[in-house]
Amino acid sequence: MAGGREDARVRTIDGMSEHEAPTLPSGDLAERVVAAMREHGSPSYPRAFEVWYAHLSGEMPAVSMAMNAIITGGDGKIDAADIDSLYDRFIGTERLARHAERTSLQVLGEIDGLMALVDKALDSSERYHGRLSAMSEDVPPPADRQKLREWVEALVLSTREEVTRKTKLEAQLRDSSNEIRNLREALESTRAEALTDPLTGLANRRHFEEMLQKSIDQATLRREPFALVMADIDFFKQFNDAHGHLTGDQVLRLVARTMKDKFKDKAIITRFGGEEFAIILPDADLIAGKFGAETVRQALLTRELVKRSTNENLGRITISLGVASYARGDTAASMTDRADQALMLAKRTGRNRTVTEDAIETTTRVA
Ligand code: GH3
Ligand code: MG
Ligand code: MG
Repeated sequence: MAGGREDARVRTIDGMSEHEAPTLPSGDLAERVVAAMREHGSPSYPRAFEVWYAHLSGEMPAVSMAMNAIITGGDGKIDAADIDSLYDRFIGTERLARHAERTSLQVLGEIDGLMALVDKALDSSERYHGRLSAMSEDVPPPADRQKLREWVEALVLSTREEVTRKTKLEAQLRDSSNEIRNLREALESTRAEALTDPLTGLANRRHFEEMLQKSIDQATLRREPFALVMADIDFFKQFNDAHGHLTGDQVLRLVARTMKDKFKDKAIITRFGGEEFAIILPDADLIAGKFGAETVRQALLTRELVKRSTNENLGRITISLGVASYARGDTAASMTDRADQALMLAKRTGRNRTVTEDAIETTTRVA
């Protein structure tokens, strides 16, 4: 039990060692970035620098447009959720797309090389066969020892040359196919990265959407139930304001880890965005879905958050959850919407609870 309690503690890291260091702009631009961040109340962790730099350098017009829309559309403030959403929408995906494009071009180059090698192998093989058949039509009579010897020597030489050529080509083919295998692995890991949330290691929103659609297709085809749980951390803004964004990030990791511990590989656990999580529970009806949701909520209640650097007790965090189960004719949007409405009802009725979609209908009817 002592070990379990130890694990339950949030280990915060003072500093930014877990984040990729941003490429900092130089000179004037750096000053403008810092001034603008201050002016708009922006958080100042590494991703935020990257987003502001992309905006103010004019290097990514899409970022500038989105940033201006947020600034002019609201109170002029840029908060952590804005930064994270801009980063995920533009910078993270742009980086991955560039990587995938580079790798794909390398694959195409390798395939061209491979085809040239195959052509070369076929050519040399044809020439060798041509030579063999010419020689077989021109076998010297057994009595002419001198001619026969020259003939055999020519045959041996030609075969030796062919063996050398083949060995060389084989090595080149092996190199080339190894290179293609490596590039394919690189592409696969780029794809995996594009579907993973870097902070928690969970599947991201894009992956969630793919998996939800897949689950709906399967449920429609096989008439198997499944449940969708939407979970949202309670009063997380206050938590961030009180303890800092980096400690907040550790809480997001803790929630993700708790979900992984509870479901293992029996569920598809995803970070839906910000401090919201979506869980797809295969083979679960509404009751089983509620049971799964409650398991996570209660597990979190047993976890006490202690800031390692200061030993400060940060109390406990709670989550609210909404559950919907697949009904015939459901689409990804209709199901997400019902789980979300159940989640909102959980928030309205006091938080730190699980509400199932049947409660929305009851309250709607009553109202
Ligand atoms: P509620 O109980 O109603 O859900 O209140 P809340 O404060 O959790 O909800 P609100 O939507 O007002 O605020 C969500 C907060 O989540 C604001 C934002 O700073 C924080 N957040 C979103 N993404 C991240 C993140 O990646 N890291 C950290 N540390 N905080 C995040
Ligand atoms: Mg939220
Ligand atoms: Mg919240």
